[in-house]
Amino acid sequence: MAAIHWFRRDLRRADNPALLEALRIGAGETVALFVIDPALWDPASDVRRWWLLRSLKALDASLDGRLLLRVGDPIDVVPTVAREFAAATVHIGADFGPYGIRRDSAVAAALLRDGTELSRTGSAYAVSPGRVTKSDGSPYAVFTPFFKTWLASGWRAPAEDPGTGLQLLRATSSSPWPRSPTLAGMKLPEPGEPAAMTRWQDFRTEGLNAYPDTRNRPDLIGTSNLSVHLKWGEIHPRTLLADLSEGEGPAAFRRQLAWREFYADILARNPASARHDLRTNLAGLHTDFGPEADSRLRAWQDGRTGFPLVDAGMRQLRAEGWLHNRVRMVAASFLIKDLHLPWQAGAHHFMATLRDADLANNQHGWQWVAGTGTDAAPYHRVFNPVTQGLRFDPAGDYVRRYIPELRPLTGPEVHEPWKAPGGVPVGYPERLIDHAEERQEALRRLAESRPHSRN
Ligand code: FAD
Repeated sequence: MAAIHWFRRDLRRADNPALLEALRIGAGETVALFVIDPALWDPASDVRRWWLLRSLKALDASLDGRLLLRVGDPIDVVPTVAREFAAATVHIGADFGPYGIRRDSAVAAALLRDGTELSRTGSAYAVSPGRVTKSDGSPYAVFTPFFKTWLASGWRAPAEDPGTGLQLLRATSSSPWPRSPTLAGMKLPEPGEPAAMTRWQDFRTEGLNAYPDTRNRPDLIGTSNLSVHLKWGEIHPRTLLADLSEGEGPAAFRRQLAWREFYADILARNPASARHDLRTNLAGLHTDFGPEADSRLRAWQDGRTGFPLVDAGMRQLRAEGWLHNRVRMVAASFLIKDLHLPWQAGAHHFMATLRDADLANNQHGWQWVAGTGTDAAPYHRVFNPVTQGLRFDPAGDYVRRYIPELRPLTGPEVHEPWKAPGGVPVGYPERLIDHAEERQEALRRLAESRPHSRN
């Protein structure tokens, strides 16, 4: 009988065990399906839609044009396609996000009514969430011990690439492809599995050894830029891990991949942490709301706070849908501790605009800064956007790349434009707040919150 492989966050052919399983069971009668789900598509930013469509085109090409595309609620669409092809099984890589878990159990129940099975093989992680535990079976709450056990338990070798000329049924009844947004002026890398593989090979040969030294520098291309490819599953972390040898560079990179695995584990076990504090240690902290808070939020989103590193980051986010980790931390700290806004407001904006938006990494990255997540930086550690700029963008090149108004300032003084001889260059805003004062205010609120909070 026919089998269906339902692609979701695994838009690749190589190292895809669920696809291999569908090919094996379907034995010449396998259907490759992708469902554009309005619940995810409608709220997605243009950059996210653009990326998905380009990635699907690349996938379709690697499947000899046999990808079946349908638009609609998967709870209806997947059983309909299964009936059309008289499929006995639908194969997926397991999803561990709150929406994915709900959707998949509803799809499984709908399929079962027709006697069709939803079969899960593998996931988007080297070690699936829930598998790394303490010796008594309980979960880890902090990263380092999780990392040690994750390393010690290891992971499978990559699954084989089924190659071209797959025995897939021709997709004769695809829905029309949605129109791709035009992204005028945006500089984006190429989506899709072949581009992900090329990026990995380039980084492996040119960037990996220097990674421990360059990974904190937004002015350099010192990181892999693989997050968006990992988000869509154009490459699997197992493929990356299998290529890593010994040495400091590979070890540092392996550790970052483990953060992604850790946060997925935390979110899977604590689905409410997608919206609420993981820990209630700062439950009594007062945050601002109302028209003044809204206008500060807009200034932050628009890259008009008057603090160059924050503004360069927020403008890069708008222009490219991506941000360096250091700048994500500084921009997040600014929103939470200088503007006194709830972390959820910033996380929401990041989720809407990042092309690598990943619920687990984003919500827990924000909570790390907010002081309520795992391994959280203590709340009283407030990033100074000027010193961070001077340290991690020492010549000011990153800031000048994204803020044309500041290009007349040629050296590191670009991080303190208010000290420029002629004052702040024309067109660039005055500082929205005084950092030293707001830092004190953040600490005052922290002290005030203590009686209401549990630590
Ligand atoms: P590299 O340095 O090359 O790292 C390789 C891979 O390791 C990354 O692609 C990513 O999958 C993983 N990784 C690296 N750092 C982290 C980290 N701190 N936490 C979890 N995984 C990590 N990452 C996302 O993928 N999506 C998000 O939506 C996201 N939002 C974030 C929000 C905030 C406030 C913060 C502080 C961090 C966020 N991160 C997010 C984590 C990190 O910033 C990005 O993964 C990284 O900048 C991506 O660039 P890269 O691929 O070049 O990273």
